[in-house]
Parts: sequence; C-alpha cells; structure tokens
Amino acid sequence: MISVQEARQLILDNAETMPVEAIPLAFAAGRIQGTDFLASHPHPFFDQSAMDGYALRHADLITGDPLKVVGEIRAGDPPNIDVNRGEAVRIFTGAPIPSTADTVVMQEMATRDGDQVSFDGLVDRGANVRKQGEQLAKGAVAVQSGAQLNAARVGLLATFGATETTSPRAPIVAILSTGSEFAENEDELGEGKIFESNGLMLRTALLQMGLESFHAQVEDDADEIRKRIEEASTMANVLLTTGGVSVGAYDHTRNSLEACGYEVIFHKVNQKPGKPLLFVRKQAHRVAFGLPGNPRSSLMSFYRYVYPYLRRAMGAQVLDLPRIDLPLVEEYRKRDGKTHFVTGKIEQGRVRVLRKQNSHMLASFGAADLIVEIPDGADHLPAGTVVSTWVLPR
Ligand code: AMP
Ligand code: MG
Repeated sequence: MISVQEARQLILDNAETMPVEAIPLAFAAGRIQGTDFLASHPHPFFDQSAMDGYALRHADLITGDPLKVVGEIRAGDPPNIDVNRGEAVRIFTGAPIPSTADTVVMQEMATRDGDQVSFDGLVDRGANVRKQGEQLAKGAVAVQSGAQLNAARVGLLATFGATETTSPRAPIVAILSTGSEFAENEDELGEGKIFESNGLMLRTALLQMGLESFHAQVEDDADEIRKRIEEASTMANVLLTTGGVSVGAYDHTRNSLEACGYEVIFHKVNQKPGKPLLFVRKQAHRVAFGLPGNPRSSLMSFYRYVYPYLRRAMGAQVLDLPRIDLPLVEEYRKRDGKTHFVTGKIEQGRVRVLRKQNSHMLASFGAADLIVEIPDGADHLPAGTVVSTWVLPR
C-alpha cells in the first residue's frame, strides 16, 4: 500500500493543464490566468495628483510667499495649464499634474484669498504625486500565468482596459454515485435505505472551486456501472465515482473502470479515512477517482487528492487549499501507523481536533475550519506538536 505522499505525487504526475481559451472578465471568478498579462501602458498612466489640493513648484513653496492660482484641473481634464514661477493650480485627486509642477500640497494646508493661496507647513518635493509607471512599467508582468483571477487581479486587468483574458478551459467533471441503498422517498427509509448525499456534497465542493459538474447515480450492478462510466467518460475530463471501491462482493467500481479502458495508477492508500481510494487514467484529460462511499471519506479524499488534480488541470500555480502549520491543543493518539486526516477548529492560534470523526459522520466536517494531517510516522503526538493543516473553503 502506498503512502499519502506517493499517492499525491502519482496524481500530480498524471495531471495536465487544460488548453487555454479566451474568457470575458465578467465571468472570470473562480478561473485561473492562462498566460502572463503584460502591462500595455505604464501604470499610473500619467503623473497625477494623489490629493485634492494645489499643484506647484517645490522651489516656490519653500519661499513661503503666497502663490497665484492660475487655473483648475479636475480628474479627467487634460493637463494643459502651465505652472510658472510664483503660480499654483487648483487640482483634484486623479487629475494630471502639469509638466511644470512637481509637488501637490493638500487643501487642508492651504488658505485661499481670492486668486492667492498660501500654505502653513511644508511638504517634500514630489509629495502627493503618483508617478507614471510607479506601480508597473509598460511591459511588466501584471498578472502571472497560473494566478487565481480574484477580484483584485480582475480589477488590475480591467485597469488596462481589458474586457477579456485567457484561461485554461474548466475541466468537465462528472459524479457517479454507486449503491443500491438509495431511497427514492421518506417511506423507503424504514426498509434500510438511506438518502444519496455524496452527489450534492461533491457538486458543492466543485462549485466552490469554480467548477460545474454533472451527477448521476447507479445501482451496484457491474453492467449498469460500466454503461454509466462509458457515458460519463465520453464527455467528462474527470470522473468521480463514489462507493463500491473496497473489496466487497458488490464493489464493482475498479473492474468497471478497467473494462472501460482505464488503467489503474494506484488503489489503496495508507490513510484514514479513505484507505480504498482508487485513481485511474485513460489518456490525457481522462482520469477517474474512485472515492469511498462513506461521505466523510469521500469529501476528505476530494480535498487532499481530487482538489490538487483539478487545480493543476485548471492551470493554477497553487494546488492545495491554503496551508498553515499549527500546534495541537490536545494530544493525538493512534495505533495503526497510517496517516490520519481529521478536521479541526482554530483556537487561539492552535488547532483543536473535533470529536466524532467516523467515516459516516459529516457534522464535524461541517463545523471545522481546517483539515489536519497526523503523519503516518508518529502514533503519539503530545499537545503542542505542530501539524500541517489546510483551511477549508467557507
Ligand atoms: P461503499 O463504499 O459503497 O461500501 O459504501 C460505504 C458506506 O457509505 C455505506 O454505508 C454506504 O451506504 C455509504 N454510501 C455510499 N455511497 C453513498 C452516497 N452516495 N451517499 C451517502 N452514503 C453513501
Ligand atoms: Mg456501496
């Protein structure tokens, strides 16, 4: 049985970034920048005032003499007033600075008397002027390939007048829940049935990372499962099956995937939960994850394995959820030599592992801030031991 690290490496070795397409910036949320975006202009575009005040020559300010106000420049106006010796121009935030001025004094320091203005106090030469190109020179990388198109980056692209950008295509994801125990309605619950929940759970996790998905469910019947996998793999880049991946008599997932031409990359990982995790591949951009049926195991495997695969397919530089290393509030004991993934809450800079973490339990996942990794090597971690954690999406 392979380790968590080996499993993750095998997954990333088999993950390729999708081809790049053009997308409107209006729909960029959740997407990744596909190529370096170079500043098409210096930014700021021109020398401009950072304040409402007066533009002047610093040499005149230090004389202390009143200056003659020779005009006004508002944001959006051209800078076509000259400021000569002994003169100042009324100016507003974002307005271009006349080429003959070098400094802006804020209006709070100014006393106006007709067309004369005097100032109490001094500012440095160049004060309150945003210099052309001080943020980005023309041609500098403004948004890197692989960067998340968050609000700030979309704003930055729009700053340059862009309405579109490039992004690796979103991988198409299909979810197939296997099991014969799914109830159609409340009445069937008394007969040992349960409600199918992995489909909506995984769909939500995918939506939170910016991906749409399709969902179907199928009974534990080898032929039916094979048909559904066949259908799904004609359209989906990534197939997520849940259930039927252990070694029970009705666990048909692995055989069905193999019958559909998928090659097993690994099956079973030395971890808890999610030991039976299966990863198979058919060709570039055609893989499947056999997730365990137990909801907690399924979601945990999603975040530690499916998530980084999808992030790479989406072209992201950062593959995992944000990681922070935190000390444990309480000791952690185990006996099985496996890597444990548990959920926890942040408590004053430390992490408290939550109770009730069995594979069928989702409540302590829903209440958690983080996923915590307890490594396979150590079976007793005293309180205060620093562990790796990954911040769950809100
Ligand atoms: P399996 O991995 O198929 O052996 O299923 C393990 C456990 O997870 C069983 O208790 C199943 O009833 C449950 N389970 C499997 N699939 C689902 C599902 N899609 N939704 C909710 N529970 C499931
Ligand atoms: Mg099952």
